[in-house]
Amino acid sequence: MNNRIYNIAIVGFGGMGSYHCQLIEPVSQISVIGVYDTVEYRMELGKEAGYKTYANLDAVLTDDLVDIVLIATPNDVHKEIAIQALQAGKHVICEKPVTITSKDFNDIVKVANEEKRVFTVHQNRRWDEDFRTAKDIIDKKKFGELFHLESRVQGANGIPGDWRQLKDYGGGMLLDWGVHLLDQLLQITDSQIESVAANLSYILGTEVDDGFTSYITFKDGLTALIEVGTTNYVKLPRWYLKGTEGTAVIRDWDLSGEIITRNPDVAHIEPKPIQAGQGLTKTMAPPSEQSTLKFAIEKPDLDEQSFYENFVSVLEGKSEIAIKNDEVHRVLVLIETIFEAAETRSVIHRSI
Ligand code: NAD
Repeated sequence: MNNRIYNIAIVGFGGMGSYHCQLIEPVSQISVIGVYDTVEYRMELGKEAGYKTYANLDAVLTDDLVDIVLIATPNDVHKEIAIQALQAGKHVICEKPVTITSKDFNDIVKVANEEKRVFTVHQNRRWDEDFRTAKDIIDKKKFGELFHLESRVQGANGIPGDWRQLKDYGGGMLLDWGVHLLDQLLQITDSQIESVAANLSYILGTEVDDGFTSYITFKDGLTALIEVGTTNYVKLPRWYLKGTEGTAVIRDWDLSGEIITRNPDVAHIEPKPIQAGQGLTKTMAPPSEQSTLKFAIEKPDLDEQSFYENFVSVLEGKSEIAIKNDEVHRVLVLIETIFEAAETRSVIHRSI
């Protein structure tokens, strides 16, 4: 058994940088060796936690003990730090959104290839239980073939923090939560995107979007509504999935929800009309109980390599990288298309 320990240095020891220490803790082959942050107070916290602190980025990159650099700074400086770290011979993990443009991302990948170093992006929400569960329902066709998907996250607390409200730092909710939801979406289908329509919201008056709604169609006929909101005092379900034989809803991260399908053993039963406003309706009446089946949401087997276990396995040539650079690139192109669709107020027909 290989017991090599890989040392990681964290650049940007803020909220997410410090959270990575918790993620790394259970991974026996990675050890946090030190931290670097431009803010003294954050360095003090690193010291208190028992880590070495570096005076500047150069000190991190010239430390031969450092195998991996983790970038958890605001988004605008990911690219320059990533390229310097790769050129210094380090493997690099970068927080999402990896860069603000797909061109910047290509520049990083070019250097990673030249330097023969592993570069990947922490798209950690591919491991989220709600996403895994939604994907399992879809893959196992628990409600027939998926033809429409709605994936949302909604809060009422505005855009958090400071730099996330500023354009120059790569702020805004499309780049923040949007990158997760769009990354998950592209893991659900193999089909190419055909068109994108979108609207960004600026309810809070910030220079960056405080949320967005996008409507994406795929060549195989799948449609997807992806939405992020920070001004939603009442929120809609996290996932709403329509299949040819039924509907699934996952209301929240706790996996509350259900799947209702047509009962294949019961011939169609006419619903009883219900009073709806000033009229009667059969069309919008609930289906009769006998003609449907109800299933609980079941968590799939989630016993897989974690992000960091996968990274170690890649360094040792044993696994393929979980978050592939071409997937990351495709998400960035989709984000750029959403910005374009919103700015031009048009539907962009583009194969992505
Ligand atoms: P934060 O503001 O809490 O932390 C950023 C830290 O970087 C700060 O301590 C700041 O002083 C430091 N910093 C700024 N410029 C620097 C530089 N040039 N060199 C070194 N340090 C520098 O922000 P955060 O919420 O921790 O976000 C950091 C990154 O992590 C962002 O890219 C964000 O999108 C990402 N993030 C990812 C997730 C996730 O679930 N994957 C969650 C939160 C944040």
